[in-house]
Amino acid sequence: AQKRYANLRDLPAETTCGTVIGLSMNAGLMADLPSLAGSGADGVGLFRTELQFLANANVPRRGDLAGLYARVMQAAQGKPVVFRTLDIGSDKVLPYMRRPEEPNPALGWRAIRVALDRPGVMRMQLQALIRAAAGRPLHIMFPFIAQLDEFRNARALLDAEIEREDKLGHALPAELRVGAMLETPSMAFAPRKFFELADFISIGGNDLKQFFFAADRENELVRRRYDTLNTSFLTLIEMIVNRCSDTGTPLSFCGEDAGRPIEALCLSAMGLRALSMRPASIGPVKHLIRRVDLSEIRQAILDARDRGDQSVRGAVNACLADMLN
Ligand code: PEP
Ligand code: MG
Repeated sequence: AQKRYANLRDLPAETTCGTVIGLSMNAGLMADLPSLAGSGADGVGLFRTELQFLANANVPRRGDLAGLYARVMQAAQGKPVVFRTLDIGSDKVLPYMRRPEEPNPALGWRAIRVALDRPGVMRMQLQALIRAAAGRPLHIMFPFIAQLDEFRNARALLDAEIEREDKLGHALPAELRVGAMLETPSMAFAPRKFFELADFISIGGNDLKQFFFAADRENELVRRRYDTLNTSFLTLIEMIVNRCSDTGTPLSFCGEDAGRPIEALCLSAMGLRALSMRPASIGPVKHLIRRVDLSEIRQAILDARDRGDQSVRGAVNACLADMLN
């Protein structure tokens, strides 16, 4: 698939109406990094750090993590890499971590909730990230923020580690950007302060959709029941876009839907200007984006919403068929 789109690699994802959509890739292993050059991605929009923790029999050591993170930044050759701190619990369980039985793990003790209650592991991870950056820019993103204070507290932990590393005489990152993943509907309604405090926000569409429709992403009986192009979900996305643009907060979308061409197009039509996806999706998404007039897609979506269509998929497909033929 990569080969087929190779001629697009160095071209921007620019619509016929002149809107440029930034396309980054998701990663989680050192082995993913060669795809950065191969796909022409702008950077790594989501580096899932839990894979190193899941692949080990014990908590990885700080020095080993710092080495790995430094190699990832090195391989990115100056392109930004957004490291998401440990996102465990729910579907991602560490074999060596004792945790309580939970009636509903997806709604349970996971991600930032664990990190704030038992900060030891995240502090170690933050130290590793700071040491890895040493003189380079560092982008850190906290997963599963569901209320403003969780972001404040996570950020305070990071600030404390920066201060500690400084006192210990380690080189600090050249620049620090601290973001939040928006994965629960609650954050679309967060105080304005949240959008001001975050250096950037990334929509975790997999979880956001699961919680918006109350449909377990792991449950085959319901996981495909609700369309991402459901009018209500796109209205939620539009609301988040508007709240971020009010405060000038950079926004991206890093769930799996970003890598599906029609979904990527509709997210762009709702105002997203940065998407992060599996490397193999970059070619197909770029190919479609470069052939469309986004304002026409947007109009088709708004008309479908006015008509009361449950999903805008039919309207968008019809619009595309007209446009591309
Ligand atoms: C998401 O929830 O959309 C996301 C990107 O994170 P993960 O799939 O790792 O939960
Ligand atoms: Mg998630």
